[in-house]
Amino acid sequence: MARIPMVAGNWKMNGSVDFTREFLGQLTTTAGEENAVETLLLLPYLYLQTAQQLLNSSNVAWGAQNVSEYAEGAYTGEISGNMLRDFACSYVLVGHSERRSTYLETNSQVAAKFFQAINTGIKPILCVGETLEDRNNATTFNVIEQQLHAVFENSQFKNCMGSGFIIAYEPVWAIGTGKVATPEQVQEIHAFIRQILAKYDNNVANVTRILYGGSVKPENAMEIFKQKDIDGGLVGGASLHSDIFREVISICNRFCLQSTC
Ligand code: PEP
Repeated sequence: MARIPMVAGNWKMNGSVDFTREFLGQLTTTAGEENAVETLLLLPYLYLQTAQQLLNSSNVAWGAQNVSEYAEGAYTGEISGNMLRDFACSYVLVGHSERRSTYLETNSQVAAKFFQAINTGIKPILCVGETLEDRNNATTFNVIEQQLHAVFENSQFKNCMGSGFIIAYEPVWAIGTGKVATPEQVQEIHAFIRQILAKYDNNVANVTRILYGGSVKPENAMEIFKQKDIDGGLVGGASLHSDIFREVISICNRFCLQSTC
C-alpha cells in the first residue's frame, strides 16, 4: 500500500515571531505545488498560534516538539496534549534524541508521552536511534528494539492501530553533525523497524510512515528518499532556511511523482 511521504521540519529552539511569520508566508506560497508530499513544521510552543493563524487554510501541517507525559496537574512548565489540541496541532515529536540525552527522558517516559498524544488526538512521531557508541559496539538493533518495545509492548498500544503514528529513525551521530548515514544503512534500519511493527499488525506495518532524520539536505535527499522503506525526512538544521527546506520538499515531491509512492 502506498504511503504518503512526509517532509517534517524540526526548528528545535530557534526562531522568533517575525521569523515565523516570514518563513510561513514563504512556505505557503509554494507548498501547494508539492502536493504528493505532506509537509509538516514542528515549532517551538510559542509559535504554534502563529502557525495556526497562517497555515490554517494551507496544506502545511504544524505540530510541537514535545508533550508532557501527564494529562494535567502540578507539572510546572509542562505543556499537555490537550493544550496542543487547542492550537490544532496534528503531530508531536516524542523521544527526540536531544530530549533523551539532555533531559534524560527514559523509554518509559517517551512511551507515556506517546500515549498522551494518542489520547488527545495528536499523532506522535516516535524518534528512535542509536549513538555512535551503540553503533561501534554493534548494539544498534538492540537499542532500537528496546526504544520501540517500550511503546509497542505497552497494553495501550493495541488501541493505537490506525491512529497514524509515525516513527522517525534518527541515528544520534548524524543529527546536526553533517554526517549522514548511507542510504543502505538507513534502509536496513527502516526495514528492521517495519519488521518489528509487523509482529504486532502487518497492515499497520505496511501503512506506517518511517522517516529518516540526520543532516538531510538537498544534496542527499534524493538518494535517501529512493529507499524502499524510507517515507520522507525529519529535517532539523536545513528546515530553518525556507529556500533549502522547500528544495527538500520539492525533491521528495519529484521523486514521488516519478515513482509509485
Ligand atoms: C533533528 O533535529 O531531528 C535533525 C535531524 O537535525 P539535523 O537535520 O540538523 O541533523
